[in-house]
Amino acid sequence: MFDKKKRVYRFGGKTAEGDGQMRELLGGKGANLAEMSKLGMPVPAGFTITTECCAEYYSLGGGYTEDLKKEVAQAMKATETIMGKKFGDPSDPLLVSCRSGARSSMPGMMDTILNIGLCSATLPGMIQKTGNPRFVYDAYRRLIMMYSDVVMEKAEGIEPADGQGIRQQLDRMMADLKEKKGYASDTDITAEELKELAEAFKVRIKEVLGVEFPDSAEGKLWGSIGGVFKSWNGKRAIAYRRIEKIPDDWGTAVNVQSMVFGNMGDTSATGVCFSRDAGNGENLFNGEYLINAQGEDVVAGIRTPQQITKLGSQRWAKRAGISEEERAAKYPSMEEAMPEIYAELNGIQEKLENHYHDMQDMEFTVQEGKLWFLQTRNGKRTGTAMVKIAMDLLHEGMIDEKTAILRCEPQKLDELLHPVFDKLALSKAKVITQGLPASPGAACGQIVFHADDAEAWHADGHKVIMVRIETSPEDLAGMSAAEGILTARGGMTSHAAVVARGMGKCCVSGAGGINVNYKNKTVEIDGVVYKEGDYLSLNGTTGQVFAGEIPTKAAELSGDFKELMDLCDKYTKMEVRTNADTPHDAEVARAFGAKGIGLTRTEHMFFDGQKIIAMREMILADSVEGREKALAKLLPYQKADFYGILKAMDGLHVNIRLLDPPLHEFVPHDEAGQQMMAKEMGVSVEDIQKRVLSLSENNPMLGHRGCRLGITFPEITAMQTRAILGAACQLKKEGFDPHPEIMVPLIGILYELKQQKEIIQRVAEEVFAEEGVRIEFEIGTMIEIPRAALTADRIATEAEYFSFGTNDLTQMTFGYSRDDIASFLPAYLEKKILKVDPFQVLDQNGVGQLIKMAVENGRKVRPNLRTGICGEHGGEPSSVKFCAKVGMNYASCSPFRVPIARLAAAQAAVEE
Ligand code: ADP
Ligand code: MG
Ligand code: MG
Repeated sequence: MFDKKKRVYRFGGKTAEGDGQMRELLGGKGANLAEMSKLGMPVPAGFTITTECCAEYYSLGGGYTEDLKKEVAQAMKATETIMGKKFGDPSDPLLVSCRSGARSSMPGMMDTILNIGLCSATLPGMIQKTGNPRFVYDAYRRLIMMYSDVVMEKAEGIEPADGQGIRQQLDRMMADLKEKKGYASDTDITAEELKELAEAFKVRIKEVLGVEFPDSAEGKLWGSIGGVFKSWNGKRAIAYRRIEKIPDDWGTAVNVQSMVFGNMGDTSATGVCFSRDAGNGENLFNGEYLINAQGEDVVAGIRTPQQITKLGSQRWAKRAGISEEERAAKYPSMEEAMPEIYAELNGIQEKLENHYHDMQDMEFTVQEGKLWFLQTRNGKRTGTAMVKIAMDLLHEGMIDEKTAILRCEPQKLDELLHPVFDKLALSKAKVITQGLPASPGAACGQIVFHADDAEAWHADGHKVIMVRIETSPEDLAGMSAAEGILTARGGMTSHAAVVARGMGKCCVSGAGGINVNYKNKTVEIDGVVYKEGDYLSLNGTTGQVFAGEIPTKAAELSGDFKELMDLCDKYTKMEVRTNADTPHDAEVARAFGAKGIGLTRTEHMFFDGQKIIAMREMILADSVEGREKALAKLLPYQKADFYGILKAMDGLHVNIRLLDPPLHEFVPHDEAGQQMMAKEMGVSVEDIQKRVLSLSENNPMLGHRGCRLGITFPEITAMQTRAILGAACQLKKEGFDPHPEIMVPLIGILYELKQQKEIIQRVAEEVFAEEGVRIEFEIGTMIEIPRAALTADRIATEAEYFSFGTNDLTQMTFGYSRDDIASFLPAYLEKKILKVDPFQVLDQNGVGQLIKMAVENGRKVRPNLRTGICGEHGGEPSSVKFCAKVGMNYASCSPFRVPIARLAAAQAAVEE
């Protein structure tokens, strides 16, 4: 059943079997390890087991094929030859790590095991070879901790009670030992104590998990490989894939790589670095390192790391209020402390960036004065950094314009569109403490201390700030629900910082001045105790923390962001309009580059103040005269609304939809409201109640709504036309240039449109005669009923444009009520019947076919038929791209999504 494909790819010693293009097969990490080897960079030798083997492993019920075993044995031999050591050799053992690595990086979401190969048979030889028993036992206790956690517990699907995980139990044993001995740091623990600790660990593991900690090197290698495969389906990894929309069937590769050690003394170190600033995009090499430490220590936020460059170090000291003397003495940068290695590191990072033409995020280790590269990848970045880096690379000539457009993720622009603190309020606000500017932006909310609280408060409609000592991958969902994250510990590359940046969420990390008490749910800052629910504000760009709520103000399109948008306009074939019901929304959208309004809903206008009373009077009237009397009251309100919107969009098209929702949504359902209407209209409450009752429907969304209202009550269509064109005429007389479009909603049959059109045209002539001016305007329809899409060639004979109402079209094509989908959608997603919510992401296979057909058939009849989308999907990048592909003239979305849609539309054009 399993064919003769290649399952293992070697790398190291300046050669490799794979390369950087093979991400699908080798995962991102494996592909780049191969590529770096080929570029001649110092990469510890090893091999990658392909992602295909992950699926194979699952299909074998957690087993390996003979072919795989053979290939691993051969690759291990080759690795041993390069490194000059043998795996499992009692006198000079080769140690390896087993590292996860999927096609797209999922930092910290899957597992890695270090120091594999240490066991009772190899410990003495290792000690003799290194002459450093402390180092060896430290490596051993780490192996025990990682292996028991990843392979013996997590991979076995054991779900321990909170705080009772084996890793946490072993962590506590180590902490207890330190406390008993009065040690401040892990490095104070002696070799002998570590040796005893390792033995005590094994006893505890047996007690808790009921199985012996395995002792063979080979056994642990295969155990680890399986553990990594299984971590693909770990809780954290699955949660991350949901958020990042990564398919479940990709699988992870496994990288088996020779260990190098950053914890062999003061000429050893480990670190993480970025070729540019991942937070603000500045073209500045930066990163953090720890002397005498092993890889995981930097990310885990156990010790506060030092800066790699001198400039970075000085900036860090300034923020932390540390004097230059103290900084240079206590926290020197790598540039100062290890100048030669720094120079090599700097050379390689530059070479890597030039090679990949993108900002790199790299891991390295220095073992006794020798530099090793362990990882490089295109770095995750904030939306701000994404735009700046793309435009900088363009200016530097590293990438071309089309690549710059494709480099930016539309969705991520969202961050640049979020509010920033109001400058004036900010200048008056009190900074209560300072942390690291881990992920930029402004956030303000009520504080909570646990991930599930963050989720619960968020679900109740609160804006929350999650305050933690440090975060771990278990906190992911809570972080996602929070406006911002504040941690007491951890550097710029701590879990909180990396994840927040990935999410585009404001984060201040390593705020050493805060004192978090999980039990009481309080945090003490500068002598003041803040309780759960109190307000704090964070500035992730500066690291400042403020007491209370600081108002925020809207973002604007300027600088690099504007330049990117201009570039999009150069390539795009599809315009972006906005959905706006108020002049204010229209102005906001216009500032973000909207080229008109794709949908103005008139019903929202009816809800405030006096309007709703007139509206109710109109609906509750039982005669044409009564309705006309009420409509006459509504007319001036409507006209004023349209006047404002058409003025805000002067010179651009404004598509106005005639009344759409079921009437019963407007009438009073409460006693008091009914009494008030009875008085207003001079009829009995009973009459009102009868009328309200007569309006109720079993299935209002498929009931008396849309153009059906205009068909049964033509005077509504007449009044709205009068208001729209009256406003336009007035504007024209004032010297403006209005371009209204009048849209008839919910058409299923040509004659619905035809009859509505007759009314509109008749009233238009009346208005033009009265006003003494004429206005160019168009009459179009919404395609939102499948029958309309199916008969588009007929409908286009009357419609001057089509606007696809994909909310209703999705609803009616699937037969899912948008308002009721919540009851079964989670099950559908979980059972993989649906991949995504079709109301968020346009269903290209089904609904999309109707759209494509309608566009094509409509244009057969009317070649210049304008088409656009105005549903919720108009602001969702993949849906926008689809619309561009089928040749729509525009997409229309909410004001704050306009730049996102513009970028997606430009990408569609560039990708063609
Ligand atoms: P992640 O994808 O979560 O970053 P990694 O596989 O990169 O996981 O490994 C976790 C940590 O262990 C990193 O800091 C990495 O540099 C370090 N590490 C992994 N393999 C080795 C190795 N062979 N030698 C030294 N350090 C290693
Ligand atoms: Mg890594
Ligand atoms: Mg609709």
